[in-house]
Amino acid sequence: MSEINLSLDKVYQLAYDCMIANGCDHDNATALAETMTAAERDCCHAHGLFRLPGYAASLKSGKVKGDVKPTIKQLAPTVLQLDAHNGYAPLALKTAKQPLADCARQNGIAAMALIRVHHFAALWMEIEALAEMGLAAFAFTAYKPAVAPAGGSKPFFGTNPMAFGWPRKDKSPMVFDQASAAMARGEVMIAAREGHQLPEGVGITKDGKPTTDPNEVLEGAMLTFGGYKGASIALMIELLVGPLLGEAASFEAATRDNNDGGPPQGGELLIAIDPTKFGHPDDPFAHAEQLFAELLDQPGTRLPGERRHQNREKTEIEGINVPKSLIDKISELSA
Ligand code: NDP
Repeated sequence: MSEINLSLDKVYQLAYDCMIANGCDHDNATALAETMTAAERDCCHAHGLFRLPGYAASLKSGKVKGDVKPTIKQLAPTVLQLDAHNGYAPLALKTAKQPLADCARQNGIAAMALIRVHHFAALWMEIEALAEMGLAAFAFTAYKPAVAPAGGSKPFFGTNPMAFGWPRKDKSPMVFDQASAAMARGEVMIAAREGHQLPEGVGITKDGKPTTDPNEVLEGAMLTFGGYKGASIALMIELLVGPLLGEAASFEAATRDNNDGGPPQGGELLIAIDPTKFGHPDDPFAHAEQLFAELLDQPGTRLPGERRHQNREKTEIEGINVPKSLIDKISELSA
């Protein structure tokens, strides 16, 4: 596969220009380009430029609005609701961050219910931003059915990611971000595009048989990580973003979606916690550092997020390699 090396500035410009050409205003195009560039920078390619055709398709079909401004209201002293008005998640999340952080600092804990949002990216971005503001934070979102429930063989859950972050003084926060599927669907799509086999346990054929062929998994169903335990996490996420927020669970998102290649409308729940407000008699951050040090004392261990940060250091200097076919596609979409 022919690839072209691009600096991160060039990645940003490609994404920004393409979003403007497809009907975004400056604020939305900026937030989307920042999100795709951050994904490429940390080598989370499944949420980088690879998503541009899907973003453009949903603007073109009118499913997602590229020129809307999110609005926020307070539902209870510690519960805020952001209405994205059918816009993409990046501007919504940028808008949500400060009010959520302020509310969490004031009350110890706060939640932001994001509704009417189209999420197509990795959750670590919003969680890392909140943790860099000194807060511990959780994020949850659902998608369209892709993953079979425990014992079942048909897609029912979304790939339903959750992320958690913990702030660290003078260090990048600890952030884990994981799909409740055994693998993110974007990675399965990339494997199909590039002709790679998948590891065992990622998915099943449409007849419910185990397979490592990504095309068969895309036609059949993905599996949760850890069997029924992952299925319970996926179920919890459906409840937190569907019934709790009054938004679509994955099975409902599928019936509403026009299948234009972009993400369905749905919700996202963010919870932020101020670790200094939970009664630690001393310093919760220093205590956490002792915990991390103890863990890292074991050979072979690392903290979640470290791989991304190592990638970041490298790509900020060396740029990233992008398939030429994808760059051609983006140029076509930007024309
Ligand atoms: P991975 O399985 O690649 O990684 C999950 C987490 O585990 C990461 O935080 C990773 O840190 C950490 N980790 C991996 N190996 C180790 C290790 N040896 N020790 C400690 N920590 C480790 O991610 P997934 O494939 O499950 O998810 C991919 C992405 O897809 C996520 O960002 C998710 O938000 C996104 N997604 C988005 C959806 C949407 O609808 N918007 C739907 C589904 C997924 P590190 O990164 O440093 O390796």
